Amino acid sequence: MPASISVKTDSRTEMLDITSSVQKEISKAGVQDGICVVYVPHTTAGITINEGADPDVCTDILTKLNELVPPNRAYRHTEGNADSHIKASLMGSSVTVIVENGRLVLGTWQKIFFCEFDGPRSRKVYIRF
Ligand code: ZN
Repeated sequence: MPASISVKTDSRTEMLDITSSVQKEISKAGVQDGICVVYVPHTTAGITINEGADPDVCTDILTKLNELVPPNRAYRHTEGNADSHIKASLMGSSVTVIVENGRLVLGTWQKIFFCEFDGPRSRKVYIRF
């Protein structure tokens, strides 16, 4: 099994900054230089990299996603979470980040966000170097 991070979400839709948890796994594995794949093994959650300095950016992303893909519409999938599946695919299920000198190479304002679309739940994120 790959290294993994446990994530607990508190609402139906939510973006959680997991950058420090990913960095911790890199340090634990002793990886110095390479690439890090961060992968979400769920069909109603996704992952993305975006601005972490202003929390309004995440709020705007979630608000716009809800406008584009509203819950409780006439979807064919009958589990009641069709919008969650669509949002998960829009965000994608993995990101790849360069690791240099044991550190994630991210832009000044960039953070890695776990994107919950059908919470609250306990989730996993896999990491492979
Ligand atoms: Zn479903």
